[in-house]
Amino acid sequence: MEQYRVEYLPGTKWNEKKGAMYRHMECKVCGVMTKCSEDTQAVTCSICVQESLYEQFGGPDVTLKKSSGRPRGWKWMAVFVDKDGTVFHRGIEQPELKGTLEPSKVKDKGNRLTKKDKEKIKLEAGRRLYKLKKDIQKLRWKKDKKVLDKAIKYETRILAGKFPRKFDSEEYWKKTY
Ligand SMILES: [Zn+2]
Repeated sequence: MEQYRVEYLPGTKWNEKKGAMYRHMECKVCGVMTKCSEDTQAVTCSICVQESLYEQFGGPDVTLKKSSGRPRGWKWMAVFVDKDGTVFHRGIEQPELKGTLEPSKVKDKGNRLTKKDKEKIKLEAGRRLYKLKKDIQKLRWKKDKKVLDKAIKYETRILAGKFPRKFDSEEYWKKTY
């Protein structure tokens, strides 16, 4: 396991408690102290994340800022089909495939979770964690354990009510380990 410098520093953002100390870790790329959660083992600061995205995708996409009717993150999707049938593979247009696939369904922002949904999902996360923690003890190989470890981390966050920004409850209920 790699070790990075950790420091507890006061929060600076408007939504952080005054006087409270937050765990920070040095960015694994540039070394800037970056706020992170208690169980984070390595962190990349937002600037380095952006930089690596620019490298991959060639700079900020201006068309993304004009509302294109495409969902957030469409460029990262393996396959995305625009309303007019234009097919993209990871954000790259595939002209020869135009019109060969159904346009992707774009969910509007209406998939926000209600309090009740969240409670139900948290309950499920608890159930899954119980099972996952039992299952992981039966495994012999590190490689297999890693998969469950990841699942345990994920479900732990859900149980704590930390829903990822792109959380899709339909996908969540379908998930099996
Ligand atoms: Zn950085």
